[in-house]
Amino acid sequence: IYNFSAGPAVLPESVLRTAQSEMFDYNGTGFSVMTMSHRSDVFASILYHAEQDLRQLMDIPSNYKVLFLQGGASAQFNQVVMNFADGFKRVDSVVTGNWSEIAHSQMGKLTDAQIHLAADGKRDYNYTNLPPVQNWDISKDSAFVHFIINETVHGLQYREVPKLEDGMPPLICDMSSEILSRKINVSDFGVIYAGAQKNIGPSGATIVIIREDLLDRCSDRIPDVWNYKSHIQRQGMYNTPATYPIYISGLVFRWLQSQGGVAQMETINTLKAKTLYAAIDGSGGFYKNHVHPGARSKMNVIFSTGNAELDELFAQESTTRGLQLLRGYKSLGGMRASIYNAMPLQGVEALIDFMKEFQKRYG
Ligand code: PLP
Repeated sequence: IYNFSAGPAVLPESVLRTAQSEMFDYNGTGFSVMTMSHRSDVFASILYHAEQDLRQLMDIPSNYKVLFLQGGASAQFNQVVMNFADGFKRVDSVVTGNWSEIAHSQMGKLTDAQIHLAADGKRDYNYTNLPPVQNWDISKDSAFVHFIINETVHGLQYREVPKLEDGMPPLICDMSSEILSRKINVSDFGVIYAGAQKNIGPSGATIVIIREDLLDRCSDRIPDVWNYKSHIQRQGMYNTPATYPIYISGLVFRWLQSQGGVAQMETINTLKAKTLYAAIDGSGGFYKNHVHPGARSKMNVIFSTGNAELDELFAQESTTRGLQLLRGYKSLGGMRASIYNAMPLQGVEALIDFMKEFQKRYG
């Protein structure tokens, strides 16, 4: 089958096979990674190599710390505020779709800082385009600027990675649904975070990449479990990390390296997205995607026939062909094909074949 789920999402088959073969006996230890102490040398080595491989893949500079936390990307909406907004009057929040709207609604809890709506993609574009970085209303005095680079539900992606001018506050980016899908410059960001369950591994691990100097802002009043500094001081072992998801993420990093790394992924991802959007645009209007071409996501491709009943039929019939989980997000309807790193080009081609056949029957 081809699994188009937005997350938890498809994983490379070879990764699952390795996990299967190591399930009862990891590396001759007689233990499954799942039942191993997180304090054991064996797990310490798994964590160490996962971090090193991620650093290599993303070219993470040495002045950035890497954490594998729990709580998902949603926890980060508040954790970044708790850690970095203390003593500031304002946080700038860019809203571009479903997830940044949720982030915006949550960030103001547990802080005195004002969460300033720096850009409103709903008001300006009804979430069919992205406010350009030059139009963000941001202030030098803000604690940071928060945005989401790929909106998983609305199928929007900043094709050009936003970069702030010198002297501007640190840029904090939710990269959940596109991390490792293309080359980015980590040093353009103060913090990058991502839930693993889309482009990396199973749910349960959340990657947080933090520029070291920002840790000076983390006050001792933050409970240790929410405090980035306390996690870093204890080498990511403040409390029990999500050991198994970290192990699988590590296998995915190795797989990415074997595929030629992020640059190679970017080439394949571009081809997959181009092919799928061309099929939508070439359907004579039967399939529609209303996103401005310059803001179309290469990870989450949304489309619909414009007829809810037909869309439902598409979702049902595609399932019987082994094309799984194409139903769109609950509030948006239509279809969504998530085509993360682990989705091969053949999966996209199989989807297009089905789209053509479906159109022949119902178009
Ligand atoms: N941010 C983005 C861009 C997402 O796509 C999602 C989940 O789909 C989230 C945040 C929420 O992630 P989690 O379920 O890990 O809290």
